[in-house]
Amino acid sequence: MNHFAPVALDVARIRQDFPILTQTVRGKPLVFLDSAASAQKPRAVIDAMVTAMETQYANVHRGLHWMSERTTEAYEATRDDVARLLNAADRAEIVFVRNSTEAINLVAYSYGRGVLKPGQAVLISAMEHHSNIVPWQMLRDERGIELRVAPITDAGELDMAAFELLLADGKVGLVAITHMSNVLGTYTPAARIVQIAHAHGAKVLLDGSQAVVHRRVDVQALGCDFYAFTGHKLYGPTGIGVLWARRELLEAMPPFMGGGDMISSVSYERSTWAAVPHKFEAGTPAILEGIGLGAAIHYVEAIGYDAIAAHEQALTEHAILRLSAIDGLTILGHAQDRGGVVSFTLANAHAHDVATLLDRSGIAVRAGHHCAEPLMHRFGIESTARASFAIYTTPAEIDFLADALVRVREFFA
Ligand SMILES: *Cc1c(COP(=O)(O)O)cnc(C)c1O
Repeated sequence: MNHFAPVALDVARIRQDFPILTQTVRGKPLVFLDSAASAQKPRAVIDAMVTAMETQYANVHRGLHWMSERTTEAYEATRDDVARLLNAADRAEIVFVRNSTEAINLVAYSYGRGVLKPGQAVLISAMEHHSNIVPWQMLRDERGIELRVAPITDAGELDMAAFELLLADGKVGLVAITHMSNVLGTYTPAARIVQIAHAHGAKVLLDGSQAVVHRRVDVQALGCDFYAFTGHKLYGPTGIGVLWARRELLEAMPPFMGGGDMISSVSYERSTWAAVPHKFEAGTPAILEGIGLGAAIHYVEAIGYDAIAAHEQALTEHAILRLSAIDGLTILGHAQDRGGVVSFTLANAHAHDVATLLDRSGIAVRAGHHCAEPLMHRFGIESTARASFAIYTTPAEIDFLADALVRVREFFA
């Protein structure tokens, strides 16, 4: 493939780091094109968690004994890793949560109920994941906070003129928007969104669940106020995610959950809260998962975002070229600035049937509404199939997908 430019990333070597990829399924080599739903884990992450369990494990933050101190160090080191990953100004701005969903819910509960006032509005976009829709609906219904939705174009880009118009009356207190769509692959112009929102007095939350996997994120350069991501899509374990927020915002926000580890003192009359970020981390945290996330971040940093972004850009261009040449196949979303997820429909075939037939060739893709039902409705469809790419994806796998889709197409012709 001469249009597939060689890049600095050594995919063959990277694939050796992922034990699961050596498997065959249904007698065929596994072609895993569903990393946008959850990524596979490198040996480094698996080993970090196993080693912790075998050699260095106790509860964190409270023990005065050796084991607890070592475990606390290992777990808290991940907070520094995340701060470096996002270029946060302060490690205390990193709140550990379970996943992006919990990060966004934390903001909806704590900032939404504690700081926003009835009559104010939250502005989202028409390409949000359910986890960046439903918490705001719940807030609207409970607190009389209006929910506004900025439209997108047919290409799947945010309609910037409409977006700005929705901010014009100054009522929007918070813009909550994806940094990269999990369905369309679109990168939103986050820095520009922040500029416009701030000019109208609104804070900005970016849902970075997809973006942080594929590109370097610098929250200070973006200028945003909240950034959420989930560990399991960044080659880390499930059960650990991150909310980054500006320190002064976290300090102004009431706690989300009450319990151990988040207090400074407790009596029956009154309790006082621990300093940030611990004020938002009630109960025993996901210790092993936190340690695993640290290993994932080190792994990604060692490869480097320049190589990752270049590799995935080349894969995406290759996929669009191959897939759009298939008769009856329609790709959803044609944003100028896009990343490695490609959603498509095939004429006369339901997305679930497409996925089932691909599975017979050992190819794993996602099919359905991708937790974005309103986005599906925006395009007048119910579902798509989606292939998504990761650091371990090869151009040969995309060719394999394209060839299999031609056979699927013939089946339904
Ligand atoms: C996956 C995803 C989420 C939710 O992540 P969880 O780990 O399920 O909480 C939110 N937004 C986007 C854009 C996603 O891709």
